[in-house]
Amino acid sequence: MAVKLSHMLFGAFVLLFVLQPCVIKSLKLDSLQNLEQVQKGGGASGINQVKQYLKRYGYYPHGVKLTLDDRFDDFLESALKAYQQFLYLDVTGKIDSATIKTMMTPRCGMPDNQGESHLISNYNTTNSKWRKYNLSYSISNAPSGFKVNGVETVFARAMKSWADVSPFKFTKNSNSDIKVAFYSNNHGDYPFYDPVTGNEAYAHAFYPQDGRVHFNTLYTWSTSPTSRQADMESIAVHELGHTLGLNHSGLLSAIMYPYIDLGTIKRTLTQDDKDGLKAMYKY
Ligand SMILES: [Zn+2]
Ligand SMILES: [Zn+2]
Repeated sequence: MAVKLSHMLFGAFVLLFVLQPCVIKSLKLDSLQNLEQVQKGGGASGINQVKQYLKRYGYYPHGVKLTLDDRFDDFLESALKAYQQFLYLDVTGKIDSATIKTMMTPRCGMPDNQGESHLISNYNTTNSKWRKYNLSYSISNAPSGFKVNGVETVFARAMKSWADVSPFKFTKNSNSDIKVAFYSNNHGDYPFYDPVTGNEAYAHAFYPQDGRVHFNTLYTWSTSPTSRQADMESIAVHELGHTLGLNHSGLLSAIMYPYIDLGTIKRTLTQDDKDGLKAMYKY
């Protein structure tokens, strides 16, 4: 009997972990909708997480100290307006339904606004650039369901998207400029999971001339995703944009837009993405 019980517990344990990738959502708040009616000066449980979410992605000016409570204050209104403006939502300064829908979408782990970035048109560039156009890359491991050469095929296609519209050339080499790896949450730099907001980032990449590109193994990666899987190539094209020095664009159609739904394939660079890289490197 004792043996059977332990088997059952083990089964429940396995089930819990197998099912975990299916419950990914961008915010911890199950009841984000409840915040829709909250007015400035009012308060509600969960406002604190919205503040920290906006802070994390760069919507509070440097020097503004967050008041970590559930009150809807002036700073939150300004941060909401900045968020809505960047993403071309109606600038209401309120936690409205379009804002909630966007915040609930899974996203890249990189912030939308940083001190050193310059907003030109829609795209965002940084001051970090490569001083050469021939870049080498390596793939160190593969997520569940892939072999390393399968990941290489996906990334080779993603790199071709950028190479086709720029002077950049990418070559596989173990002594590499661009280093792609798949990791679980804590992996020595920035965790993918934010315990306050509940955000579970797809991936992040470092600006030139660092070259690290890290993907989150919590997601189920695919080349033909179901509605619960993430398209590896779509997110590879996006992260490579950061590797080349681009920041996020608020234009929904752009590859450098920070959000993408599970199951969505979005692999084609837009004029905005191409203009962004060209403005940075002036070719
Ligand atoms: Zn990104
Ligand atoms: Zn990392």
